Amino acid sequence: MADSEATRRLGAILRALEEQGVRAAPVEEAVELGRSSPEAVFDLAAAVVDRFPDGGTFLDAALGYLPDDRWDGLVGLALDALDRDGENEAADAVIAHAGLQALPSLHGQLDRLFRLRPNAGTNYENWPWRESGDRDVEPQVRRIEDPGLADELRQKAWRILLETRSPGAVARALALANRVHPVVAGFGPEAGVEACLRQAGLTRDGAGIRRLAPDGLFHVVFPGGFFEQPRPPWLARVHPTWTLEPSPEFPPMRFGGRADGECPLCRGRLHRLIDLDPVPSDLGVTGLGRLEIATCLPCLGWELAPLFYHHAENGHAVGVAYHGPTIIPQFPAEALRESEVRLAVTPGRWRWQDWGLSNSRENLTRIGGEPGWIQDAEHPDCPTCGRVMGHLMQLDSDLPTGEGGEWLWGSGGIGFVSWCDRCKVSGHLWQCT
Ligand SMILES: [Zn+2]
Ligand SMILES: [Zn+2]
Repeated sequence: MADSEATRRLGAILRALEEQGVRAAPVEEAVELGRSSPEAVFDLAAAVVDRFPDGGTFLDAALGYLPDDRWDGLVGLALDALDRDGENEAADAVIAHAGLQALPSLHGQLDRLFRLRPNAGTNYENWPWRESGDRDVEPQVRRIEDPGLADELRQKAWRILLETRSPGAVARALALANRVHPVVAGFGPEAGVEACLRQAGLTRDGAGIRRLAPDGLFHVVFPGGFFEQPRPPWLARVHPTWTLEPSPEFPPMRFGGRADGECPLCRGRLHRLIDLDPVPSDLGVTGLGRLEIATCLPCLGWELAPLFYHHAENGHAVGVAYHGPTIIPQFPAEALRESEVRLAVTPGRWRWQDWGLSNSRENLTRIGGEPGWIQDAEHPDCPTCGRVMGHLMQLDSDLPTGEGGEWLWGSGGIGFVSWCDRCKVSGHLWQCT
């Protein structure tokens, strides 16, 4: 598109905001601007931070198209705005989305971020410290050890050390845990430390710390025509995570339909989620060439959770023994629509995704990587060996079923699959709001 066309589109969005306020919510126009002229997203975001500090969904949606090399500038501008006035939701949104899509742009600004506290009180307040290694460890340690600093800030500094996920920083945090007594609703001090570790994808394992998220990360790429249900235009599946190029090294894989195994609770046939054939490397799954991930959609969560399955050498899912009476599910469910999907190696920009900040725009069905919890982290204990299970896969809601319906996890959350590689056991649960 010619630059003049981008200027015209940008001008139209800003005029609508001026005339009707952010309630005009020009989401489709902002996405269209981002798709056709990514460079113009910088100008849009800068203008919104400056003149429409309430921000809005249209800004969040447009930020997904900001060119990688423009984040540094936009982050600086957002922090300047917060320096002038702490109440700028548009600036907060820029920092929140940078905390997912552009972490390096935040790492030179960690002092300012600690002082200004954009998004204070949200679950993403400390995300800027993710992947920052050990560069900001010493300032946090000094804060934790400073008896003159408010408790809340000392706790924040402690949680920041965990959020880095850097082994050195995490070790320092554990050594200093008794200085802060991390407050986690419903947990005593010792359990509170573990709950905070889990939230950062970590767990104590003997004398060490184990990461619960595998390094490998792949998005599921659905075939054309897979989603039939119409969506309002502002929720069209156009986000870059919906249009990733499938990786040629993986063949098409079976998704949805029924598996061979039987649900031990209701005696119905299991529902296949995906048949990983072959299993990609770096997922923490060893010794199996193929892994059929399956569960019982009517029983999972509505009757019991988590549900567990053993996987034999052929990868098939077999329900872990259940000793109660046979259940008649309250909510019978069709299988997910059977199809062949592809896997795409996830680009770095989409390594971190969040259900709330995605706001139904992004493809959140992914294998490996860090889970996007909606509630607190829930890694089940393996029913066979008792060890905490690692993350393996998550599936978003709104997946089509065989009967033309749409599958929702609860009220529209995410289904999570975990894995114990020692025992070859998968665990399933879901979360929603
Ligand atoms: Zn069942
Ligand atoms: Zn186990």
